[in-house]
Amino acid sequence: MDIKFCIQCGNSTHLTIPEMDTHHRHQCQTCGFIHYQNPNIIAGCLVYHREKVLLCKRAIEPRYGLWTVPAGFMENGESTRAAAIRETREEANAMVELKDLFFIANLVPINQVYMLYLAELVNEDFYAGIESLDVQLFSEQQIPWENLAFKTVEITLKKFFQARQNNQFELHEIEFKADRSVIWF
Ligand SMILES: [Zn+2]
Repeated sequence: MDIKFCIQCGNSTHLTIPEMDTHHRHQCQTCGFIHYQNPNIIAGCLVYHREKVLLCKRAIEPRYGLWTVPAGFMENGESTRAAAIRETREEANAMVELKDLFFIANLVPINQVYMLYLAELVNEDFYAGIESLDVQLFSEQQIPWENLAFKTVEITLKKFFQARQNNQFELHEIEFKADRSVIWF
């Protein structure tokens, strides 16, 4: 993002490599404040209940009307686990018992890191939060594969059902590169 004015003093910034730094930054020409921009972490849950998983139909852009797992940007002062639980409560009003980390995706072109935990649904009293049009449990056969919001969701769900079959839930890590290729680790 282009930052034209200093968030500290309101004067103009310029793009420069500050002393002792290796990257270009928007630095204030008056007070010297450096506006660092770093990747954002998106934390969420792959919520399961018996043989089904919980998906939310998005009531917000981007990808309005498509299905996704409950996930969202971490807040300051929060852990990834706390963020995953909070997002699941906000988007699906679902109570979960958080398990292991299951999936990490580095979305390099958009400067995001996506972290999904396995989470067991505690009860079936879930309902759509303000950012969802609908929340439902889906078996593997019922998943709306053609109407998933993001490629990462499709990959995660496929890995989950594979893992279930083999009863082996190890962590999966992938990287989406700028040239759109995908690397698996
Ligand atoms: Zn300034």
